Amino acid sequence: MNPHILTNDTIVAVATAAGAGAIAVIRLSGPDAVTITQRVFKGKNLEQQPSHTIHFGTIRDEGKIVDEVLVSLFKAPHSYTKENVVEISCHGSDYIVQQIVKLLLKQGARLANAGEFTKRAFLNGQFDLAQAEAVADLIASDSALSHEVAMKQMRGGFSQEIKRLRAELVHFASMIELELDFGEEDVEFADRDQLRNLILNIQRIIRELLKSFELGNVIKNGVPTVIVGKPNAGKSTLLNKLLNEEKAIVSDVPGTTRDFIEDEISLGGITFRFIDTAGLRETTDKVEAIGVERTLQKLSQSSLIIYLFDITTTTPEEVLSELQELNPKKLPVLPVANKIDEASPATLSAFDNLQDIVKISAVAGANMDALKDALVEKVNLGKLNTQQQTIVTNLRHVDSLNKTYTALDDVLNGLALGMSGDLVAADIRRALYSLGEITGEITTDDLLDNIFTKFCIGK
Ligand code: GDP
Repeated sequence: MNPHILTNDTIVAVATAAGAGAIAVIRLSGPDAVTITQRVFKGKNLEQQPSHTIHFGTIRDEGKIVDEVLVSLFKAPHSYTKENVVEISCHGSDYIVQQIVKLLLKQGARLANAGEFTKRAFLNGQFDLAQAEAVADLIASDSALSHEVAMKQMRGGFSQEIKRLRAELVHFASMIELELDFGEEDVEFADRDQLRNLILNIQRIIRELLKSFELGNVIKNGVPTVIVGKPNAGKSTLLNKLLNEEKAIVSDVPGTTRDFIEDEISLGGITFRFIDTAGLRETTDKVEAIGVERTLQKLSQSSLIIYLFDITTTTPEEVLSELQELNPKKLPVLPVANKIDEASPATLSAFDNLQDIVKISAVAGANMDALKDALVEKVNLGKLNTQQQTIVTNLRHVDSLNKTYTALDDVLNGLALGMSGDLVAADIRRALYSLGEITGEITTDDLLDNIFTKFCIGK
């Protein structure tokens, strides 16, 4: 058992989302989970039932039936938290759920803190820290790729890679420390060339992992995408088409789309978070001016720009100059010509020389597939092989990897300068510490609190 843990109390929380559903699940974990449930349950004697069984019965408040329920039993250590766990499936009314939780509290359970179930699972050795974090990512995953990456991390793919690197370093650290025991005798157990090669190799892998975060961040958080263009270019219409719902206001009056509507779609496994804007028109209108200011602000928050223009009223030269103007940061930008349903063949062909351009009709929904393909292509995840590659999605891990990298640089410098073994060993230990933070071999209470309070209650 992990020395961190002192759980002689039993926690309870609702595991399902609030609001009426067909069923809700209330979860208990701790030594008295079964005993406490038994006190409010009428049916079989739960304490005499084996693990991994389900029992029908009623929950009663001093004889009065609160609900008919199913009780699932998971006895320690064969449960999510490795403690006794009980899951009560009741009817999904908030009232019933509250009544049952109240009864369980009265019988000695205490309300769980955010993430406490998963924290207990981690502390009891069910999985390491990176895997625990992946549980939260999995629950939050909303696209095929974010699901795949979280699942892989939860199953330990990422952890294994970190642990492997760590194990190799531990070996060298202990060799060098062994040398120190021999004091003056000038022995070298740790081959310095081998150590240098190992460190260079680990640094290479860390660089790859850090680079993968660009992708990991996109996969986890989506691509903030902005649609810009003059008023009446058809931005709202396009957004509507893409979202397939009437979420943006469509209007014939120029510049009426003043509110920002953020929404998401998933294309090719990637989430695009759309940010609608009020257009880029120079204006004296006050309300609209705020809109323009916010457009520029939104531009600075986005990673991908769709530049939409009305092909019937815009020249290729205008398009080129606007593309330059609106994109000082050189973000990926997709020029999209709209209203091809009203354009003459001559107008259409005038744009043939523009690179990467997609021509659509937002109203008619023409060429939407080409547009979607082009969007996915812009993010350039096409070449990504999520099966093979380990992808970092967590900023905390990025931080630890950076610290490891710096410590390894110090080791390399120490070796180059022929520094004494104790100093080199200290730098290796620092690298080990940072690597260990990722999987939780090294933890502090602050670190754990920081991670688990971001979970919801009940997880
Ligand atoms: P926004 O100001 O850029 O958001 O433009 P809107 O989406 O409000 O569209 C302005 C006008 O252009 C509306 O009357 C739309 O119906 C019309 N519109 C949008 N897309 C198309 C299109 O593909 N073809 C045609 N003919 N009209 C369009």
